[in-house]
Amino acid sequence: MRAAVYYPPDSIRVEEVPVPKIGDGEILLKVRACGVCGTDVLKVTRALPKKPVVLGHELVGDVVGLGKGVQKFKAGDRLVVAHHVPCGQCHYCRHGNHSMCRHFKETNLDPGGFAEYLRIPAEHVEQTAFKVPAQLSDDEGLFTEPLSCCVRNVRRASLLPGDFAVVVGMGSIGLMMVQLLKLIPTQVLALDLFEERLDLAKRLGADFTLRGDSPDIAAFVADHTEGRRADIVVFTAGGGRVFQNAFTWVRDGGALNLFASLSDKPVEVSLDSLYHHEITVFSSYSPSPEDLAEAHRLLCEKKVQVAPLVTHHVGLDRLRESVDWITAQKAMKVIVNP
Ligand SMILES: [Zn+2]
Ligand SMILES: [Zn+2]
Repeated sequence: MRAAVYYPPDSIRVEEVPVPKIGDGEILLKVRACGVCGTDVLKVTRALPKKPVVLGHELVGDVVGLGKGVQKFKAGDRLVVAHHVPCGQCHYCRHGNHSMCRHFKETNLDPGGFAEYLRIPAEHVEQTAFKVPAQLSDDEGLFTEPLSCCVRNVRRASLLPGDFAVVVGMGSIGLMMVQLLKLIPTQVLALDLFEERLDLAKRLGADFTLRGDSPDIAAFVADHTEGRRADIVVFTAGGGRVFQNAFTWVRDGGALNLFASLSDKPVEVSLDSLYHHEITVFSSYSPSPEDLAEAHRLLCEKKVQVAPLVTHHVGLDRLRESVDWITAQKAMKVIVNP
């Protein structure tokens, strides 16, 4: 079969590799579509993997092989499956830190979504695979994983109806975050540097939009919250500077929420502000199986729109180019059809 293999630091080659063999309880999937995630882009641009690897973990495919004992699915089913499974019992899992579970980090699909076929290990079959119903396209179904990361983040934010949220960055993640926040519902101010992305944010439910480099954000937020300012600032993009600015956007007792790696360099913050204003800084990374189930339900019920986030479809041979488009913000969600 063909697979797009990433060779650190900078090349992705389409190669002929063996079709994975499946064992008891496992499934062989023929990949229909796999989304390029921000973390795939980060892995390539920062050359994080140390050895050749097939990336891609937001995928939908057809069941073409069933190992002995698989009860949950049958041949021909169209599935979406996520790549990591927590143990559910360790110290991390018991504290709700499923994505920090050591077992979670070790589990994966074989070889990855940017390939023609993929082996789903037995524990993934049981915990992170879902049948994609007819009302969802391949593109919509594969958003189960990225949306579930956002679901977990919003759940951890513990917001109340009527709260005011600022979301920085209207890429695909920011646009899903806006829609989840509107389900609470909070008021949402969307920030980005691109006019088209702000327009899309409005169409998908954002109450207000401003350019992310506007000097008026602090005053705008104060005006719309009786002077209190925002309950939360969610960073799906931006750099250290935006993070520092956000101290003037967030209310006393509010939260600064990291949903992206804003910088690989240290950022200076005032510990005094953090302390005196009871500001919480928290992050969220990857989902639990419950978050996946919730995201899948939201997609099936059409509570979150994801089709408008897709800008490109490509073959395996254009994956490397796609990384450049996303980095240059010329593409939003790119979907690879192997
Ligand atoms: Zn992802
Ligand atoms: Zn665990």
